[in-house]
Amino acid sequence: MRIDLHTHSVASDGTDAPAALVAAAARAGLDVVALTDHDTTRGWAEAEAAVPVHGVALVRGAEISCLVDRMSVHLLSYLHDPEHAGLLEEGERTREARLQRARAMVDLIAEDLDLTWADVEAQTVPGTTVGRPHIADALAARGHVADRSAAFATVLAAGSRYYVPHYAPDAAHAVRLVRAAGGVPVLAHPGALVRGRILSDEAIGRLVDAGLAGIEVDHRDHDDAQRRRLAGIAAEAGLVVTGSSDYHGAGKPNVLGERTTSPEALEAIEDQGRLPVVRP
Ligand code: AMP
Ligand code: FE
Ligand code: FE
Ligand code: ZN
Repeated sequence: MRIDLHTHSVASDGTDAPAALVAAAARAGLDVVALTDHDTTRGWAEAEAAVPVHGVALVRGAEISCLVDRMSVHLLSYLHDPEHAGLLEEGERTREARLQRARAMVDLIAEDLDLTWADVEAQTVPGTTVGRPHIADALAARGHVADRSAAFATVLAAGSRYYVPHYAPDAAHAVRLVRAAGGVPVLAHPGALVRGRILSDEAIGRLVDAGLAGIEVDHRDHDDAQRRRLAGIAAEAGLVVTGSSDYHGAGKPNVLGERTTSPEALEAIEDQGRLPVVRP
């Protein structure tokens, strides 16, 4: 069984349509793939319809933007009720804040570079959760940068003069909301040094107290030391351990199935989730 529990479609900052992502999962030899777009479940229906076509099981999920002491933290939610009012409201609030933030960043960038909001919109489909990757694609389309990575290294970097932060819920609050919606909260890449500051053991402990179910230990942004640290925390707290690609289509070098999750871990997640895994 090959199981990849973290991917993105055009519903957020991936470049594959949801059905194309399921097809790509089949080609990559995966048995199970989770669709975890940033702050939205808009890709679920199309991905579900593709399950019998391509013979890959689907875990319906999302990656929720959160903050801990103003540090950006990502929380994966699996198998939650997509209609749960509290979780839905937080998601919409974050998506709206992301939109205003992206507009503010484009206004700042436009002072120095030829770039319009229409350029960014051209990189999205209706309902997309807008993020810096779409601004990156717009910058690349205008020839200002070579690709997303180049944009993130310069214009879009967290320390750049064009960078604007956005609202996101506190992570412990988000963990409780995910549980209230019947979802299974798993901390995404908490030891990703490449993203800047990382969560301390104490901060992770507070999320465990709030109801955290698991930690994404195996991720390309973790070095061996981080993997060992996070596996230790998970073992001590009795948490599920996952591994995933964080695939973004052509938007990132991450390859489907480059990191995987054990069948036992998936079983523990399905046991705790309100929704079933969609099987072919
Ligand atoms: P945002 O959530 O709008 O602040 O943008 C962060 C998103 O950008 C993350 O979810 C990543 O998928 C993506 N990202 C971050 N760094 C890079 C990079 N170097 N190349 C491509 N995508 C990136
Ligand atoms: Fe992303
Ligand atoms: Fe993430
Ligand atoms: Zn992700």
